[in-house]
Amino acid sequence: MARYTGPVCRLCRRERTKLFLKGERCLTDRCPVDRRGRVPGQHWAKRPRETDYLLQLREKQKARRVYGVMEKQFRGYYKKALRMKGRTGENLIRLLESRLDNVVYRAGFAMSRKQARQVVSHGHITVNGKKVNIPSYQVKVGDTIAVATKSREIAIFKEALENIRREPVPWLKIDTKKMEAVMLDMPPGECIDVSIRDEMIVELYSR
Ligand code: SF4
Repeated sequence: MARYTGPVCRLCRRERTKLFLKGERCLTDRCPVDRRGRVPGQHWAKRPRETDYLLQLREKQKARRVYGVMEKQFRGYYKKALRMKGRTGENLIRLLESRLDNVVYRAGFAMSRKQARQVVSHGHITVNGKKVNIPSYQVKVGDTIAVATKSREIAIFKEALENIRREPVPWLKIDTKKMEAVMLDMPPGECIDVSIRDEMIVELYSR
């Protein structure tokens, strides 16, 4: 399946919740979820009956869209979460939160996860001093994530750090001057900006 390249606000309207796919713009009153609310499309009023399966599927789609992960990769995260100790749903969110693109976003080096993915792919981010251009790279406790020295003057990073309005997460120690962040702890097993009922995703994959 190809990556979705259409209007991202449509995805939020489909899930009937804010997924924060456009970064800081999502916090303004220009967000269509706040203004319109209804699902997109001509036949929005003829919605199918909400079965357990449909609710579970929507929850999984929501998580996939928040973290920008394709179905095959998402299922891979689920399988990995299943093998880990503890609650599978929490493990799944921890794995998604530990992705390098998400950590770059949480550190405030990018306005959205999509932009974070782009700066990682373009080789602007280092982990422990070495360039890493894989957005799905799993960051570990103690790792230092930084904007590469040669990339620090790029406007995207300055703009992101100047305009950030999100609360910093306690599991990252961020030094905005040095444009670096250290992962102090594993992320908690919940997504802090969007409500994701992880147990429903587990139920879906356990069918
Ligand atoms: Fe668009 Fe952001 Fe609102 Fe989603 S939360 S509809 S991406 S402005």
